[in-house]
Amino acid sequence: MPERMLKFVNMPQQMPEKRGVPERAADFDEIYRDFAVPKAREQASRCSQCGVPFCSVHCPLNNNIPDWLKLTAEGRLEEAYEVSAATNNFPEICGRICPQDRLCEGNCVIEKGFDSVTIGAVERFVTDHAFDQGWVKPRSPIREREQSVGIIGAGPGGLAAAEQLRALGYQVVVYDRYDRAGGLLIYGIPSFKLEKDIVLRRWNLLEEAGIRFELGVDIGGDLSFAELRARHDAVLVATGVYKSRDIGGPGAGLPGIVPAIDYLTAANRIGLGDEVAGFASGELDAAGKRVVVIGGGDTAMDCVRTAVRQGALSVQCLYRRDKANMPGSMREVKNAEEEGVEFVWLSAPEAFLGDETVTAVRTVRMHLGLPDASGRQSVESVPGSHVNLPAELVIKALGFDPEALPTLWGEPGLEISRWGTLKVNHKSFMTSLPGVFAAGDIVRGASLVVWAIRDGRDAAAAMHVHMQQTAALAEAAE
Ligand SMILES: Cc1cc2nc3c(=O)[nH]c(=O)nc-3n(C[C@H](O)[C@H](O)[C@H](O)COP(=O)(O)OP(=O)(O)OC[C@H]3O[C@@H](n4cnc5c(N)ncnc54)[C@H](O)[C@@H]3O)c2cc1C
Ligand code: SF4
Repeated sequence: MPERMLKFVNMPQQMPEKRGVPERAADFDEIYRDFAVPKAREQASRCSQCGVPFCSVHCPLNNNIPDWLKLTAEGRLEEAYEVSAATNNFPEICGRICPQDRLCEGNCVIEKGFDSVTIGAVERFVTDHAFDQGWVKPRSPIREREQSVGIIGAGPGGLAAAEQLRALGYQVVVYDRYDRAGGLLIYGIPSFKLEKDIVLRRWNLLEEAGIRFELGVDIGGDLSFAELRARHDAVLVATGVYKSRDIGGPGAGLPGIVPAIDYLTAANRIGLGDEVAGFASGELDAAGKRVVVIGGGDTAMDCVRTAVRQGALSVQCLYRRDKANMPGSMREVKNAEEEGVEFVWLSAPEAFLGDETVTAVRTVRMHLGLPDASGRQSVESVPGSHVNLPAELVIKALGFDPEALPTLWGEPGLEISRWGTLKVNHKSFMTSLPGVFAAGDIVRGASLVVWAIRDGRDAAAAMHVHMQQTAALAEAAE
């Protein structure tokens, strides 16, 4: 074992410096500063190079983490980048937004007595540094193939598949109803977690590799699914999940109550310099308002922290379970708490008050009961425990379901699960329609960027096999 590694015994864990609250709450820039080369090398050298790297096992991409940590510690940064890029299309993005505490870092074996290696921060550093040095090149193919692929959805799943297929020589066209590529990377996730230049930089690179983008095209609206299918030898559906879960009750339709995705999309568009009518009218702007966000997941955390940055008077997060049961990443909850967000645990909305617009949320206290069949504790309301929380803006962040694609696309043969996600053969990634594949959230339900990348890569490999087989059959028939 080189002397350079195993430094966790003497060297404490150190994340890149986090900007102070007053500074970071006043803008939308990322909250972590960059590692400098010596610091990244130092932190990478804390890896114990253990025999069974549980970090890799628990990374959805099975990244060769100990290898690129060792190369980083040795200062062999270009090789570290190459190893990291071999299994991940967007390492600098995952390094920023993966919930590492639940994935790689949460399974780092040195964590027992010491804090884990800062895997995500080193991963981010390695690729950012590679971009700065000009080592990141478009993955143009060595030879072209005639077959073409249509990908619906320019989110991480669709883009990872597009890059893999283009590198194999296919003619790849990515369709998206948005006007920019990136899916939730560009319009969902706020820039204080992932600055938009990082996403735009990837989009440029994919175009340079020869991938064509047809943006502002709604499949099922502007272009029928049947027409798109006729254009290509194979199709990948990577449309994500966008139907916001709604909330009922008296007053639920009052102006001032908005879905999280509309609110976050507007904030991201403003950051990108777009004009947004809903923001200009004040409907999607938290400035000067008392804000209540309903929900306890990562989307809710993104909303509360966006509202802080927009200059809300106060921001409260309403969640019907307690802190220990929150689905969101604890790191994000901590960031939100630091930034002044008040969490109202064990509370649920019962009604929305107001005449012209919402003025308050009527809440009821909840208590946790016995675990149900799924093992999760049930929640029950406490009679007579009402509290009114004043609010001029209420944001609903209750999660997302898939849109009804078979109906929207006039394809009743496209089979879906009971949750509305697309059914695929888990080996071939093919849906019930021949030559139509699917990947990402539309198959898994709302999940993570790293899983969408994994699915996109696996689906691309399966599509390659399928297209080779069809080409061979066609040749044999001639
Ligand atoms: C607010 C928010 C914050 C999140 N934060 C994190 C995080 O910190 N870390 C993390 O790992 N994950 C996070 N996630 C989850 C993550 O963003 C998703 O799991 C991931 O983006 C899914 O990728 P995808 O490619 O399947 O779909 P998406 O990223 O949703 O992309 C789908 C694309 O398909 C397009 N599309 C849909 N229908 C059509 C159609 N009919 N015609 C044309 N185009 C269409 C959409 O416009 C979109 O661009 C977050 C999600 C949200 C909502
Ligand atoms: S992709 Fe995500 S889970 Fe895998 S090593 Fe990177 S940060 Fe960890």
